[in-house]
Formats: sequence, structure tokens, C-alpha cells
Amino acid sequence: MATSTETDFLTEIIQLRHEFHQNPELSNQEFQTTKRITEILTDWQIPIEKTDLDTGLLAVIEGTEPGPTIALRADIDALPIQEQTDIPFKSQNPGVMHACGHDLHLASLLGAAYQLNQQKDSLKGTIKLLFQPAEEVGHGGDQVLDKHVLDGVEAIIGFHNQPDLLVGEIALKSGALMAGCYHFDITIEGKGAHAAQPQNGTDVVVTQAAIVTQLQTIVSRNQDPFHAVVVSVTKVNAGKTWNVLPETATLEGTVRTFNQADTEKAKQRLIQIAKNTAATYNQTATVNWTTGADPINNNEKITNLVKQGLTKKVTQPKLTMTAEDFATFETKIPGTFAFIGSNGAKKAKGVHDPNYKGKDETIKTGIQYFIESAKSVLEGLDK
Ligand SMILES: [Zn+2]
Ligand SMILES: [Zn+2]
Repeated sequence: MATSTETDFLTEIIQLRHEFHQNPELSNQEFQTTKRITEILTDWQIPIEKTDLDTGLLAVIEGTEPGPTIALRADIDALPIQEQTDIPFKSQNPGVMHACGHDLHLASLLGAAYQLNQQKDSLKGTIKLLFQPAEEVGHGGDQVLDKHVLDGVEAIIGFHNQPDLLVGEIALKSGALMAGCYHFDITIEGKGAHAAQPQNGTDVVVTQAAIVTQLQTIVSRNQDPFHAVVVSVTKVNAGKTWNVLPETATLEGTVRTFNQADTEKAKQRLIQIAKNTAATYNQTATVNWTTGADPINNNEKITNLVKQGLTKKVTQPKLTMTAEDFATFETKIPGTFAFIGSNGAKKAKGVHDPNYKGKDETIKTGIQYFIESAKSVLEGLDK
């Protein structure tokens, strides 16, 4: 990088952010993004570690003195959304948009990489920089762990930009932060019939409607009222025409919880309700349940070390029922995940909205967060 002042440096990182924002790529297709990050890091003489990842990459900064190994993580994928903002660097890739602000995350990690590499003579230990693929589909974290990309890492640090917080605000706490995300689909099978002769069939549509209604009792009747749980049915399919009672019907949706016990309870009740309601109507129901992401559960020690290292005052984050793939890492490696304000305007749209706008200035705090956290955690783990 040919720049000298801090302002020039930030300007250059912001330009890179614009470039990534203009060229968003979907999950598992981040080939150009990966190539470009590799080029930039190579240009800065930051080594890239060889991995089996198809997209995404791992770079390494080794301090001059030995010490612990930690990882800083940014996600790099975009969403299948047509951008509707009026920003000058809007997406050039039709139907794809960095609507979750992962371009802010990856630009912040690039900025931190450059600066930490400049300071490696004063670092004790190793910092791995993970540019993670496929966060939006919830499997990127699994790929990274399955391919042993983070073997030997003792702590992991990440953040997500938060448009409802003022730019520069860092909100962080230990323990629960974001919900676990689960997907279910239910297939109801019965006997079809002429719509005018329902007595000749079993009518899966009536069963389907009953199941949708009954599922609402999981939250209202089965869960502790002080525990946050969501059950949403989002996709309902049955039938092809108006005068035939179909023989199958399907339901799809999501469950969100903050802990394993609530998840287990919701899952067992959901299966019970689906199967027993179908049985009442002389039909069968099969249920598929998959985990999208576990809950974000920040490690106390690492969170405290990060808080101690930050020069900015940290605020208390609000819990959210949305999920983050970073949780996958936290199930194996002690870690912490913060929210960093990226807009703060009253009418600011949330992430995953075609009018979402994450402000450039977020990157300055993102870089600072990564650098200060990394130094504090390296030092704290070394003691
Ligand atoms: Zn997202
Ligand atoms: Zn995101």
C-alpha cells in the first residue's frame, strides 16, 4: 500500500469496500471475491495458508515471538436481492447484493490485516485471518471446520454490522446474543378424492391447517414464558386445482431458540403435533429437522479480554432472534462476536433489505475492533 497517513489508508480500504460492494457474489460462488482478497493480501506480502476451501481463504500473520494462535473472522458472501439504494457504488451484479454488509466486514478485516502485519515485530503469537464463505446459507462455518482450516486456533473473534446502532458503536456481551436457527419441513400424506366427494378421501388440507394452528401452542403453551422462542410456518403447499382434494400437503418453516433444552423441547413437540394431528385424520406426517446455525454464545473469558482491549466504551447489545453462522465456530473454539453500528438513522433499513445501507465509516471501527481485540486476546491467553 502506497499510502502514509491514516486518512489515506482508510480511504484506500473504503475504495476496496466499494469495489466488493459493486461485485457481490452468492454463497459458495465467491470466486472473484476470493481471488481479489488473495491479490490484495499478496500485494501486501501477507501469506495465504493453503486450505481445501473452494471459496474463502485463510491468511496468517506470525508475530516475531511465539505465543497463542487466534483467528479473526469476516464473512464474504452476498444475498439474492436486487439492490434498490441510490448509493454511487451500488451492485453491478443483477439480483445480487451485499445486503448484509459482509463487504464492510471483509474490508475491516483487510484493513486490520494490513496494520497488524506492519506491527508483527511487536506481536507474540499467530493471528489467522479467516475470510469465510457461505455464511448466508449457514454451512460455511461447517466447511471451514470440516476442512481443518482452524485447527490449533485457541480463540476466535468476529462482528456483525448493525444498522440500527450509531456508526462506531460497539455492543458486546458474554453469553447468549443471537438465536439458534432451525429449519423444518413436514409432509402430510393421505388419500385424495373428488372435491365434491370428500367422504372418499382423507383431506390433507384440513390436517395441514390444523397443524399450522397447533404449532403455535409450542410457544404459548409448552415453553417457559421467560424463554424466547419463535415458531414460524413460512411455506404452505397443497393441491394443483380447485376440484380435487390432493393426497399430499407440505409445510415448511423455522424455529429460533437461545438454548439446547428449548430447541429439543420445540423439536419434540413439533414432531408430536405433526404426527398425532395427521393420525387423528387417518393420515401420516413425516418431519425433517435441520440445524441452520446454533445460538451465538460468547465465551466469558474471551469477551472480557476483548472488552479490556477496546479503547471505545462498549454498550450492552440487545438479543436478536436472527442467527449467525459464527456460532458454529463457538461450538468448538472459545470466541466472541460483537455488533458494530453501521447506520443509526431512524429510518435505516435492516440487513437483508434491498434498501439497506451500511456506512463506510463503520470500517474504521471494524478495523480498530479487530486490531485491539487481537492484541488483547493474544496477550491474555499468553499469561
Ligand atoms: Zn445475512
Ligand atoms: Zn450477515
